[in-house]
Amino acid sequence: MDLNDLNRMAENLAPTDTMPVLFVGHGSPMNAIEDNPFSQAWRELGKTLPRPRAILCISAHWETRGTQVTVNSKPPTIHDFGGFPRALFETQYPAPGSQWLADETKNAIKQTDVLFSDDWGLDHGCWSILKPMFPDADVPVIQLSLDYTKPGQYHYELAKELASLRQKGVLIIGSGNLVHNLRRIVIRSGDISDFNQPYGLDWALEANELFKKLIVDNDHKSLSNYKALGSAVQLAVPTPEHYLPVLYALAVKGVNEPLSFFNDVATGGSLTMTSLKIGTLGV
Ligand code: ZN
Repeated sequence: MDLNDLNRMAENLAPTDTMPVLFVGHGSPMNAIEDNPFSQAWRELGKTLPRPRAILCISAHWETRGTQVTVNSKPPTIHDFGGFPRALFETQYPAPGSQWLADETKNAIKQTDVLFSDDWGLDHGCWSILKPMFPDADVPVIQLSLDYTKPGQYHYELAKELASLRQKGVLIIGSGNLVHNLRRIVIRSGDISDFNQPYGLDWALEANELFKKLIVDNDHKSLSNYKALGSAVQLAVPTPEHYLPVLYALAVKGVNEPLSFFNDVATGGSLTMTSLKIGTLGV
């Protein structure tokens, strides 16, 4: 046994309370640098949550065949979008990676062989919410990819295996949007800068309310089989990547654990920012 082994034992044995879990509706990348109600809620969370040892982020914007985790010691800030102001492209989020958390994540997941990746970094689904939440970028962050070949139930079962990380000081964050249909965006004023004005089309609001009811009821089976939830949900989830991250948050929730919603607002007609916090710690 050498010093590294001892350190690892100490990390594994360190007493920590069960960390909360978040699903965050990230919406427009501009939320990263705008001071608005969404980014203000993220900033407040960063102040009230227990400081994580490390963050595991499951973002809508990293889809792969198979499941991967990032192992870069200095993950690059990925600007995976177009048509936004230069200030957004110049924004950096230089949080360190964590080989420790990559190892823990790989070891926790038995359902599939998790591959290490050093050719990703932090995409905007991850850094746009973390920048307001942990502005000093001093908490290590890794990302776990979404296997685009697999259905909802598979993601839910895989995510269950991550639950033990909550006892090790890890903050698990799913980042997407419950309702996300970019082809149906409506900005009533016609001015893109009004994108965050609250407005939801009927089907978007209907799907969002249904999701919330199923979340409150702990009906994770229906949420995993979301394609059977009817026409409003089919419009709300035309492609799975922004929806699946919520299954990762719900899968690690204890049945009797408290859950609260925040940023429960529709924007652009066809997108909801509805987010949830699971657990007793923090506000
Ligand atoms: Zn997105």
